[in-house]
Amino acid sequence: SPVLTLQNVTFRYLPDAAPAVDGASLAIPRRGHTAIIGPSGAGKTTIFSLLLRFEDPEHGQLRLDGRPYEEWSLAELRRRIAYVEQDAPLVPGTLRENLAYAAPDAGEQRLWEALATVRLDERARELEAGLDSELSPSTMSGGERQRVAVARALVAQPDILLLDEATAQLDGLTEAAVAVGLHHLARKGAVVTIAHRLSTVVDADQIILMDAGAVRNTGTHEDLLATD
Ligand code: ADP
Ligand code: ADP
Repeated sequence: SPVLTLQNVTFRYLPDAAPAVDGASLAIPRRGHTAIIGPSGAGKTTIFSLLLRFEDPEHGQLRLDGRPYEEWSLAELRRRIAYVEQDAPLVPGTLRENLAYAAPDAGEQRLWEALATVRLDERARELEAGLDSELSPSTMSGGERQRVAVARALVAQPDILLLDEATAQLDGLTEAAVAVGLHHLARKGAVVTIAHRLSTVVDADQIILMDAGAVRNTGTHEDLLATD
């Protein structure tokens, strides 16, 4: 059974505005990579806001493990579902301080595992201070900082990782490195991304195509090409 479902969900930001999400139904499998694609304003980010319960729907039902969202506490939802926003801010400080932020009791091993998933473990070892190296622009590139944000989300061992354009500004090589790590992650849990470039969703297990707040199509890259 899916880990997350939306059933006929409608949401609008303002009472008189057109719905940002309009009768959307979708299911996120327990494992694998789901990519949500669609033009700007399609409602992709709003789906994340609803999944994170930053917003509540006007109609319809969201479920985690088959249980309605109202039956979960916010703390439980946020522990199960991690979110990496676009340009996720890091705290000025060390790699360790950033990684331990969401899970202060995480041991050394978990910190290094999270870094390995985003292929930053070698880099951290190269930096003389390892986990205690300072996160300054002189020691880390923008792409590396973005990967730290993903690693930070992983330290808390979420079942579901929501990534909002987290790889949008990385160079091709870095993006590939992150993708390989996410591929491993998708074997253990659900990875949901908002994608813009088709090249990043070719290998997604499921692609959800949105337009004007509605789900227009769902399938693999091949399925979507065939029905286009
Ligand atoms: P996408 O992520 O696909 O670009 P969004 O979910 O951000 O789409 O936006 C869906 C619709 O909701 C758009 O029409 C957008 O203008 C509107 N919208 C998004 N955020 C807000 C907000 N905070 N207040 C009012 N309208 C919003
Ligand atoms: P492979 O050819 O081994 O599948 P890819 O680098 O194409 O390697 O992608 C590996 C996996 O990583 C994909 O199947 C998908 O699960 C995930 N993935 C790829 N690109 C992204 C992305 N931009 N954001 C999130 N996950 C991604």
